[in-house]
Amino acid sequence: MNPGLREFFATHERIFVLTGAGISTASGIPDYRDESGDWKHRKPMEYRDFVDRPGARRRYWARSYVGWQRFVEAQPNPAHAAVARLEQLGRLSHTVTQNVDGLHQRAGSRKLTELHGSLSSVGCLDCGGVAPRTEMQRRLLALNPMLADLSAEPAPDGDARLEHAVEAELQVPGCDACGGVLKPEVVFFGETIPRTRVEQCFEALDRSDAMLVVGSSLMVYSGFRFARQAHQAGKPVVAINRGRTRADDLLSFKVEQDCAAALNDVLAQLAA
Ligand SMILES: [Zn+2]
Repeated sequence: MNPGLREFFATHERIFVLTGAGISTASGIPDYRDESGDWKHRKPMEYRDFVDRPGARRRYWARSYVGWQRFVEAQPNPAHAAVARLEQLGRLSHTVTQNVDGLHQRAGSRKLTELHGSLSSVGCLDCGGVAPRTEMQRRLLALNPMLADLSAEPAPDGDARLEHAVEAELQVPGCDACGGVLKPEVVFFGETIPRTRVEQCFEALDRSDAMLVVGSSLMVYSGFRFARQAHQAGKPVVAINRGRTRADDLLSFKVEQDCAAALNDVLAQLAA
């Protein structure tokens, strides 16, 4: 089915995998961008907006409160399972995901870096304390009983589209310990990824023979830079992605197919 991808796995031992939103759409988590790489939805929250503007935080938490339920109910899909299986077979040097949904971990990936963090915890911008997101949900509901009656269309990153006065009226809880501003432990647009996290990924890429992009348009620099680094180091870069990617010029080839189908084809070949 995929002679190119089969050959790629037959000739490269340690593959560095980078995944994006496209691998989680089959789990019911919407993608940010269409096949041309343009925004499908309203642009996501900017870091400075969130930090500087209480109104932006109210809007974020109101929409995010509603979106969270759908998010926690999402299950890993066969593509996540295939990535975990490839790791268990010793074929992956490391998996880096741009997703914040925790689905790779739940599918069994262990050599994993969540580049943009995870929605499952909330951190204090003032004292650095960390609490589980479920606790934040509980506190939001306790302060805002009207949240119990809301529902909205899901959007990426556990966000939800919500047109309601609730965005203006929401009471946002502060840090339990110091009263400071709480933020989900995800990297917002315009925010810097912790340096050590990025360095771990580059070190893993150094130890790899090749790079495989799964379900990402690489429009965000944080992921694109690994494709560029691999290419500069003379390592082949291959993508399984429907539609354009920012790294199209750097790719050895691209598989425009469903992520799970393409990966399961590789697994079938490895089992044969
Ligand atoms: Zn605090």
